[in-house]
Amino acid sequence: EAKRRRAGWLAYDPRFDHGSAATLTLLGEMRRALQRQELRLFVQPKLHLLDGTLVGAEALVRWQHPERGLVPPLEFIPFAEETGFIHELSLWVIDEAARLLARWGPIGLLPRLSVNLSVHDLMKADLVTQLAARLQHHGASPQALCLEITESAIMNDPQRALQTLQALKALGCKLSIDDFGTGYSSYATLRNLPVDELKIDMSFVRAMEKVPKDAMIVRSIIEVAHNLNLSVVAEGVENEAIWQQLATLGCDEAQGWHIGRPMPVESFEAWARERAAA
Ligand code: C2E
Ligand code: CA
Ligand code: CA
Ligand code: CA
Repeated sequence: EAKRRRAGWLAYDPRFDHGSAATLTLLGEMRRALQRQELRLFVQPKLHLLDGTLVGAEALVRWQHPERGLVPPLEFIPFAEETGFIHELSLWVIDEAARLLARWGPIGLLPRLSVNLSVHDLMKADLVTQLAARLQHHGASPQALCLEITESAIMNDPQRALQTLQALKALGCKLSIDDFGTGYSSYATLRNLPVDELKIDMSFVRAMEKVPKDAMIVRSIIEVAHNLNLSVVAEGVENEAIWQQLATLGCDEAQGWHIGRPMPVESFEAWARERAAA
């Protein structure tokens, strides 16, 4: 039974009973992971498409599990959301991001770092207070932190989301709508949200050099973004042809394997120093 549970936990089934033994085991394991510092932030660079300057990076969490190796976020984030553990996880990510910004901002290594918030974070009343406290603790500037929120997380409860977004904005943080194009936001919702950036979902970007329809969608999203005075980022830029095409379409920023994979903090620091020296 124990073996079966072990084999099954990665493929977590959201229909699991909250009180079930398997759920409690995994939740305990996640709590210990935080205490034992098994969670890691990986960092992926984001470049300006016109001149190739390093404009920012995205922090992406991984679990360095003692037996299972490096576990990707999609194998434990859904579980963390299901159990409410996501609040602790998000605050850990924000704390780490603030620490990195305080280290990299003053030396000019990285102007901005983006972190992902989940739909549950938007509903948590004290998120903004907690976030502000962590920025202050590390001496990081709110302007240097960008929060990525998916279109679907916002549309889950647009009123509540708007309140949180306005508070984050008032603090000085930048806001980005992640996975844009996969949800149902209208011009009307977009107009009312205090966001700075649209991030085109990679499902439209990854094959846009081969699929004309995808390229058309990317072109339309860039147009919408610019009409609303928003900056636009393409994710999933995997080759030079896509980079060129995005530049031609007037996209502002790019992120993807063609530029750099998500890297451990030390590797990212070395990567950024090498670029700056070149
Ligand atoms: P996302 O926010 O859409 O992040 C982009 C994902 O695309 C990352 O996967 C990244 O490694 C991957 N990626 C980047 N460039 C390329 C590319 O050129 N090609 C391809 N095929 N993939 C690329 P990752 O790190 O596995 O993260 C998956 C998702 O997990 C994220 O999607 C995000 O929704 C979630 N996630 C990751 N870290 C966190 C976190 O700290 N908090 C929360 N709430 N969610 C997180
Ligand atoms: Ca993201
Ligand atoms: Ca995304
Ligand atoms: Ca995504």
